Amino acid sequence: MRIVLATANPGKATEIAAILGDAVELVARPESVPDVVEDADTLEGNARLKASALVDATGEAALADDTGLEVDALGGAPGVHSARYADADGDAASNRRKLLSELDRVGATSTAARAARFRTVMILRRPDGSEVVAEGVAEGHIADEMRGDAGFGYDNLFVPTDGDGRTFAEMPADEKNAVSHRGRALRRLAEMLED
Ligand code: IMP
Repeated sequence: MRIVLATANPGKATEIAAILGDAVELVARPESVPDVVEDADTLEGNARLKASALVDATGEAALADDTGLEVDALGGAPGVHSARYADADGDAASNRRKLLSELDRVGATSTAARAARFRTVMILRRPDGSEVVAEGVAEGHIADEMRGDAGFGYDNLFVPTDGDGRTFAEMPADEKNAVSHRGRALRRLAEMLED
C-alpha cells in the first residue's frame, strides 16, 4: 500500500518510516498541497482535516497526526491548542515560557502537581473514506526548567514517567521514540494494519 505523509517535518517522517517502513510504501507530501487550517476542536478532528485534504488532492491513502500536551493543573491546556499556545505565530520558545509561567501562576510546584501527558491521534485515511485511527499517550510531568538540546516543541520541559528523570530533549531519538506518544500511536497503527 502507498501512503502519502501529511507531515512536512523530516524528524517525524523518519520516525514514521522507522516504524511503518517495511509494511507500506511511504510517499512525501506533494509541495503543491497547501497547509490546511487546523481549526477542529479535537486532536482527531485536526488529524482528519489533514488526512482528508491529502486524500482529496492525491487520490491516495494518507497518514496524518495531531498532538497535544495536556497539563492537569491547567485543566488540560494547552491540549489541542499546543502549537499556538502563546500566540498565533506558533513559536516553540514562547510556548514553553508561557507554560512555565502559567504553572507558576497556579502554584504548581511539586512533581505531582505538574503531571502532564502528550497525546497523539494518528489517522490513516483511504480514498474510499475508510479510516484506521490510533492513539498514543506518554505520561509524565513538566520540569521546573528547560533541560536538553534534542527534539523540538515542548521536549526540553517534558519528563516521561517511563524514564529516569531526563527530559525528552536529553534523550537520543530512539530512546524517546520507544516511550513517546507518537511512537506508541504508530506502533498501535502498525498492529491494526497487520490485523
Ligand atoms: P503537532 O500536532 O505535531 O503539530 O504538534 C502540536 C504541538 O505540540 C506543537 O507545538 C509541537 O511542537 C508540540 N509537539 C508535538 N509533538 C511533540 C513532541 O514529541 N515533543 C514536544 N513537543 C511536541
